[in-house]
Amino acid sequence: MRGSSVPPQLWLSGILERNATLFYIHHMKTVHLTKTSSSKGGSASGGEDIVVPKIFCIGKNYAKHAAEMKSDVPQRPVVFMKPSSAIVHDGAKVSIPAMTADLHHETEVYFVIGKEGKEIRKEDARSYIAAMGIGLDLTLRDLQTELKNAGNPWLISKGFDGSAPISNAVPVDGVDFNSLELSLTVNGKLRQQGSYKNTIFKIEEVIAFISQLFTLERGDLIFTGTPEGVAKLNHGDKLHAELIGHASLDVVIS
Ligand code: ZN
Repeated sequence: MRGSSVPPQLWLSGILERNATLFYIHHMKTVHLTKTSSSKGGSASGGEDIVVPKIFCIGKNYAKHAAEMKSDVPQRPVVFMKPSSAIVHDGAKVSIPAMTADLHHETEVYFVIGKEGKEIRKEDARSYIAAMGIGLDLTLRDLQTELKNAGNPWLISKGFDGSAPISNAVPVDGVDFNSLELSLTVNGKLRQQGSYKNTIFKIEEVIAFISQLFTLERGDLIFTGTPEGVAKLNHGDKLHAELIGHASLDVVIS
């Protein structure tokens, strides 16, 4: 009930402000940046949670994965996005959507953008990277194939709730990205193993490419593509992904 003394525009802006607060609490997903290079510490090791405005992903960025997808190696980065509502964190349970019979894992190094930038030069790109971690680009492969074959956007097969599990992110100071190794075990058995040095487009090149068209914002994530070995997940599977020596992520498929 608004009193007649309150101008309508103020009354409305009050509601919008309240709703904006609710929206922030319920829907803005974050990434946890640790202060040290040990990712399992959570809040106990200090650090901060920063809001993730958007998530970019690079497709077919390892030649052997492009081959297993029966795709050519791309001439420029293949870029797609997930909404930040796709994020879940270490320890999450991800349910298999009813719409699919073929939920796949893709294990990927991800980087966190530390400051806003547009038209970033490749030589300057590294200074825009605040942190890195290990993530899963969970994919509804049957839907993706159907959508790709029809020439339609594959968003729903890649951007659904829970499709972006991420570890805590660790600082990149002094890290030689070409030394990064990643792995995934499912129920204790090795499923994926890869070396970041085998990516076709390096993160610096990806940042230069994306930022020609998009403003990169603090907190944006960039998933860098999966090595070969993608496969189907089933109810009850226990996934353990590692950015070896830096970060790890455990997820259960419920
Ligand atoms: Zn992927």
